Amino acid sequence: MFLNPNNHALDGGRASSAMEKEVVADLAAMVGLRMQASSGYLGHLTGGGTLANLEGLWVARQVMGQDQMVVASSQAHYTHRRMGEVLGVPFKTVAVDARARMDLRDLHATLEQGGVGTVVVTLGTTATGAVDPLPAILDLQQIYGFRVHVDAAYGGYYTLAENLAPEVRAAFDCLPEVDSLAIDPHKHGLQPYGCGCILFKDPLVGRFYQHDSPYTYFTSDELHLGEISLECSRAGASAVALWATHRLLPLVRGGEYAHGLERSRTAALTLYERLQSDSRFIVPPSPPDLDIVVWAVRAPSVAESSRRARSLFAAAARQQLHLALANLPRALVAEPFPDSPPHDQVVTCLRACLMKPEHLDWLDPIWEAITRAANAIS
Ligand SMILES: *Cc1c(COP(=O)(O)O)cnc(C)c1O
Repeated sequence: MFLNPNNHALDGGRASSAMEKEVVADLAAMVGLRMQASSGYLGHLTGGGTLANLEGLWVARQVMGQDQMVVASSQAHYTHRRMGEVLGVPFKTVAVDARARMDLRDLHATLEQGGVGTVVVTLGTTATGAVDPLPAILDLQQIYGFRVHVDAAYGGYYTLAENLAPEVRAAFDCLPEVDSLAIDPHKHGLQPYGCGCILFKDPLVGRFYQHDSPYTYFTSDELHLGEISLECSRAGASAVALWATHRLLPLVRGGEYAHGLERSRTAALTLYERLQSDSRFIVPPSPPDLDIVVWAVRAPSVAESSRRARSLFAAAARQQLHLALANLPRALVAEPFPDSPPHDQVVTCLRACLMKPEHLDWLDPIWEAITRAANAIS
């Protein structure tokens, strides 16, 4: 911090640039991309997930052409549509299934209409942690020839966990095949803001970054990170912090860090089961894919359920339990809501993100606070 290194050029951030290359190699190895003599990968840190996704979609536009659509599910991060506007490419939303994952039938129908250049596949949506069916989407890629950009900003680290459901495991196991991938060390990687990462399978996409910066690259013919980044100046401090974290908690299966993720997932499954066994609540028909749990409050109508969810949110906060609210399609909670007209499609749900290993130890007090809050509003 005293030297204020800049990871644009090796001249301004010698040690921190070397550290960035090491941590990016750690992340690439974690998802299964490895340095090989013939091929390899290209990647670097970014200010966050939005910038990493922007870069993935910018390269996709350079490869596929400006007239080709970007499609993402209705549960994908809100910034993808905005990025489509920034890049001047058409953007289309694909529906989700009852588990909040990208609906394959709707994707297929969209592909049949033609003009799809890139499919954004989310592994761990922000609202519910849903993992899109990547293996089946890669099968469709064989037929339709689109690019696959994976938004694993939230969920990417979960590839290290050994307690995933088989379909979720299968999605993470396909990561070496995708064209590009965004992952956020400042989400599940224990980093302060801002630290994202973009990885490309094909290092030849580096050609899109070619520019002339005669006043920054002096001391070395080695790769300067600014030669492969959309941004120019970037703090070296984030690379140093991530490097230190990787030394303390290596990104390996069966290690202490991976064990922490597994504890978060166990906490989410346990909370899901407790909610399921309490008739005041409605849970989605299947358990969460990662460590985010959503549920609705039982009521005769969507409007009343949403109102009770907002009351419970406030009552829980008074118990020092800080939940979130998420407006979700009512189909996700599979509840008939007999008194609601069919056009009432969105229900406000409660959302708990159990992203710290300690959440497993705190489940009893968390459950007590939820119960007290529910009693207070009924
Ligand atoms: C958080 C998030 C983003 C945006 O990343 P920032 O780091 O907040 O810019 C994009 N996609 C997903 C799935 C996310 O969870």
